[in-house]
Amino acid sequence: MLLGCIADDLTGATDLSLMLSRAGLATVQTTGIPPSHFEASGYDAIVVALKSRTIPAADAIAQSLEAADALLALGAKRFYFKYCSTFDSTDEGNIGPVTSALMDKLGTDFTIACPAFPAAGRSIYMGNLFVNGVPLAESSMKDHPLTPMRDSNLMRVLGRQMPGQTVGLVAFPDIEAGPAATKLALGREKAAGHRVAILDALSESHLRTIGAAIADMPLITGGSGIALGLPQAYQAAGLIKELAAAPTSIVAPQGRAAILAGSCSAATRAQVAAAIAAGLPALRLDPLSVADGKTTSASVFEWINAQAPGSIPLVYSSDDPANVAAVQERLGRDQAGHLIEQLIADVAVALVQDGVTRLIVAGGETSGAVVNALGVKVLAIGPEIAPGVPWCLSRSGPEIALALKSGNFGASDFFLKAWDFLV
Ligand code: ADP
Repeated sequence: MLLGCIADDLTGATDLSLMLSRAGLATVQTTGIPPSHFEASGYDAIVVALKSRTIPAADAIAQSLEAADALLALGAKRFYFKYCSTFDSTDEGNIGPVTSALMDKLGTDFTIACPAFPAAGRSIYMGNLFVNGVPLAESSMKDHPLTPMRDSNLMRVLGRQMPGQTVGLVAFPDIEAGPAATKLALGREKAAGHRVAILDALSESHLRTIGAAIADMPLITGGSGIALGLPQAYQAAGLIKELAAAPTSIVAPQGRAAILAGSCSAATRAQVAAAIAAGLPALRLDPLSVADGKTTSASVFEWINAQAPGSIPLVYSSDDPANVAAVQERLGRDQAGHLIEQLIADVAVALVQDGVTRLIVAGGETSGAVVNALGVKVLAIGPEIAPGVPWCLSRSGPEIALALKSGNFGASDFFLKAWDFLV
């Protein structure tokens, strides 16, 4: 086992696992800290999925350090802290505080931060993050229910999370000039006293350059994009003997299918609209009705069971920013989020007990709540449905196929086409 990864949410973890396995590392994912008896032999990489993106910074630090300890005990020699490609965080954290704590734990005084994922429309130019060509602060991320992103300049964003420390930049011209120039520039940023450097990346070739330049760093931080070039770079450095072929299909257990969407991101709202337009039976969850006990997991389950056999029911709380703001005003941001997550998780448990074996869940926090409730601790990574989203098979708990989709990932027909990848 070479690479120990700590992801701050579940869909981010599956995104990274997919990237690593596609690029040739034998990868397995755990939900939460792997137990001490976890069998790591045969794997090049373990991705630990935490649910630490929006919890208090001190808790995120404690969980991340515990994960690092477990990965060290399992033999990890390189570490990767994975967060969202839209840098989802607040001025309190958690990206900066966790990065700092991991650096201290691993005894390193310099690392990188690069959330770029050009294939999913996230690129970084001069330290500014763009989402589908729009500056982060002008993208739909400005209205995220939990981590509204109102500044596109990652040096500033990360700087606010790491008081007393400075954040440098390895910009496009150095990256474009290749791995040697990138390495030199990293040395320059470190020598200038920066503890972290943001890395520009606008293309897959930049990600490969970055992979080659960072292969010897004990700790790297970023989105899943920087994983693209890592396996090859590890092999070139003699750290991995051979790269494995990525899985192309999975045989999903026979059973019914359902879709649960707790994301309010623009892509998920478009997917919900497309699914409704295509005639999927759909039930909208109203958080206020959940709060006053009118909508319960039992009433949702009853609605699902009343749908035509063979149909794929969609249950969604996805709503536009104005309605989300109104709900948060009434219930409080965290309380509203928690209520919906809990309800969707309870519905998932009831569905799986009732024979559903194929489940799409939209939303990072939502997926974390569902997988925890289902007791799925280990996931094998299957084929890619859309950039960053694989089908997964549970390797513990109930036997099911899961597509755990970060809210903003996937084209509008995702809920309709994802099923084609299952045998
Ligand atoms: P994404 O991947 O798009 O960020 P998440 O599931 O991580 O999605 O986060 C969405 C959050 O918003 C969750 O905590 C969810 O419970 C909450 N939420 C979902 N629907 C609503 C709604 N209609 N009003 C308020 N909060 C909501």
